[in-house]
Amino acid sequence: MITVLFIIFNKTAVYSDIVVPDLIKIGLNHGNATFHNINISSKNTIEIILNQGAKENKIVFENPIDLSFRKDSYYNVLNDEIKKIQFIKAVKYSGELLGPYHIRIGDAYKDYNSAKKTLDLIEKSIKGVYIAYDKEWEIWYGTLLDEKECKEKINILQKKLSDAKYNIVEPDENRVQVIDVSTGNVVFVYNSNEILIKSYESGVNKFSLIKYGEANYRGDIILKILGDGSIGVINVIPFELYLYGVVPCEVYSSWHKEALKAQAVAARNYAMINIERHKDDGFDLCNTQHCQVYKGYDKEETNTNKAVDETKGRLLFYGTELVQTYYHSSSGGHTENSENVWNEALPYIKGVDDSYGLGSPNDEWVTELESSFIEEKLKGNKTDIGRVIDLKIPDVSEFGRVRELEVVGTKNIEILKKENVRLVLGTSNIRSTWYEVSTESDINIFDMNKNDIVIKRPIELNILSAGGKKKVIPKESNIFIKGLFEAKKYPVLPSKYIFKGKGWGHGLGMSQYGAKGMAEAGYDYKEILEYYYKDSEVR
Ligand SMILES: [Zn+2]
Repeated sequence: MITVLFIIFNKTAVYSDIVVPDLIKIGLNHGNATFHNINISSKNTIEIILNQGAKENKIVFENPIDLSFRKDSYYNVLNDEIKKIQFIKAVKYSGELLGPYHIRIGDAYKDYNSAKKTLDLIEKSIKGVYIAYDKEWEIWYGTLLDEKECKEKINILQKKLSDAKYNIVEPDENRVQVIDVSTGNVVFVYNSNEILIKSYESGVNKFSLIKYGEANYRGDIILKILGDGSIGVINVIPFELYLYGVVPCEVYSSWHKEALKAQAVAARNYAMINIERHKDDGFDLCNTQHCQVYKGYDKEETNTNKAVDETKGRLLFYGTELVQTYYHSSSGGHTENSENVWNEALPYIKGVDDSYGLGSPNDEWVTELESSFIEEKLKGNKTDIGRVIDLKIPDVSEFGRVRELEVVGTKNIEILKKENVRLVLGTSNIRSTWYEVSTESDINIFDMNKNDIVIKRPIELNILSAGGKKKVIPKESNIFIKGLFEAKKYPVLPSKYIFKGKGWGHGLGMSQYGAKGMAEAGYDYKEILEYYYKDSEVR
């Protein structure tokens, strides 16, 4: 006899350890390692904090400034464009060359301010000097190509400042140059794996937006040297403020507030579940579809910010675990079980009626695909089945979504399963897996056994001729079916396949148009979420 012991946990104790963290780190340029100039600016004061153990070292730019960060390396400047190069002495370059050799003037300084005081004095007689932080605060000159150029420059510098000490600084791949974009001059060089950039309004303790590239961000920016040597840009931002920049990317801010609140909770859950995705990259989530699209401050809307505020800290649970809040645009009238679209059967992703979601622009869609297009797409997927001669649907789910699409070719048959059909043929072509396929060769035949009209394609037919009963050979020709009054022509091989489908997206979890419809019908965000995710609970 087997005894099963049930241990009842105190529910609160189990799930209370899942709480939204205060801060989240978002990678803003993940996968863009070829990019060499990181542009950072602010309308207010910018503070660069160098991460040097317990001692906080910082450099402050009081006036608005556009800064560009790039690795301390070789560059070729040509027609206002700057390119990182592998410097080869024998090559004749057109344009200006910059290099990672520098000249140190004098000794080390105890902090940034004392170095700055001396720099202001030196600048009266020498241009091209700047502060550098390379384990200690120093004053450097130039971006030179090699030792030879350094020695020539030292001779010139000595004529201007004869009592100073000059040392050559050798290249170091870990260093970063900071450029004032308006002048193109180096204003700072640092050697640190990671720096923190803050911006605030001068004189008041109020944080200001930081612009990276074309977008403004709340919070701070970390620049970090990644494993491949590129500079990673990371936005460190309070978790709830991150959602301000996510929710409006996923939903129309003009929609009913309860639908926006449901979306806010879905986005919060999704971030929480995936928070370790980029652990090895040094941040939590990236800003693309790979994790969750995040576009920072410029994309924010009052209504979506409010939806985040009004659901602050709220998460959706299934028992003690967080719900994977998959959602899609519109289902076409019914959502689906997860195992019928992907492989995993999630207990809370079950098909439900979605009549509230009807009325979306994609309730019904039609896509015509040429057989040659399907052949090309299959080849792109490393499958050559020859000429496509038929598409069949041998397996659908209980709610009508296609689980198997059989692509019959002259050489082979390929079976595409579930969501894979969309991945191979294009997710905007095949907008959902809820579809039927027809062709211009479809023949309506009255089946006496079934006492109903059935659809047949020519290659499924037998032809009676003088020579006896024959199968139709799949080739480029037509067959003629004699009706009561006239013979109708049907191509033996269809040139295109017509997909008639319902809804847009994978059809799993919450349908966004359904959430909108439910909200308009008076349901609140909890009721909406708990409806689309079976046995779930907002806490
Ligand atoms: Zn990601």
